Amino acid sequence: MRDDQVLRGVDLVRSFGDGETRSFALREVSIELGRGELALLMGPSGSGKSTLLAVISGLLEPDSGRVFSQPGDVEVDIWKMTTRQREQFRLRHCGFIFQGYNLFPALNARQQLEIVLKWGDGASSRDPRERADEMLGLLGLAKKARLLPSQLSGGEKQRVAIGRALIKNPQLVFADEPTSALDWAHGEQVIELLRIAAHERGATILVVSHDQRIVPFVDTVFHLEDGRMTDSEPVHAPRDAAVHR
Ligand code: ADP
Ligand code: MG
Repeated sequence: MRDDQVLRGVDLVRSFGDGETRSFALREVSIELGRGELALLMGPSGSGKSTLLAVISGLLEPDSGRVFSQPGDVEVDIWKMTTRQREQFRLRHCGFIFQGYNLFPALNARQQLEIVLKWGDGASSRDPRERADEMLGLLGLAKKARLLPSQLSGGEKQRVAIGRALIKNPQLVFADEPTSALDWAHGEQVIELLRIAAHERGATILVVSHDQRIVPFVDTVFHLEDGRMTDSEPVHAPRDAAVHR
């Protein structure tokens, strides 16, 4: 076990259906991520990527195996917690970016971000509106602040959803195909934001994608095939130790 580990999945098994129709999406998958690590999970369609992301982020219970997470000083065993504890954990420590954007239809782009800051704990001392506008600026959406989801393009909605996931500076970020609706210029912007979150703020980020263009930007690439981890490799030499390790 590495000494900076923040997220660890051990021997994860998850199947769907039962009897004759039972099929395995994950067959004893193990994975480890460290503080400040930006990792990419690749693999063919149906190989279990979304299932692994859901299991390791506390959204989908595995048949067997364990998930340990240590965003702060204390390590927790995600699937031993109560449902309510797990919800609290996710709210406090996790940011999610999913393929469907799940934006509120009646809120404009700025409000989608503001509401995250106003809700629950971690309410900030700084003006939520100011922070929302700053994030919209980073995402190239400064001029779209007052538009509703119905008035935004697919790529713009995806960027709002990404802003919403990152604005509270979560320690753990889970992203399923975050660049799928984006042209490369905007996709690169999004990866850059994820890189900053990981390398400058120490967030641990797992991105599912089959977009090869992301590879040069990440620290580690994991490969899943038919529910098994086939390969994992650091893409670059380890970064300067002073940054976060
Ligand atoms: P990927 O994200 O790599 O495309 P998934 O994790 O979505 O793959 O799916 C892995 C396998 O599990 C696939 O064979 C898929 O059909 C199956 N699967 C995923 N979710 C469900 C579900 N809710 N019910 C039944 N089968 C599912
Ligand atoms: Mg998927």
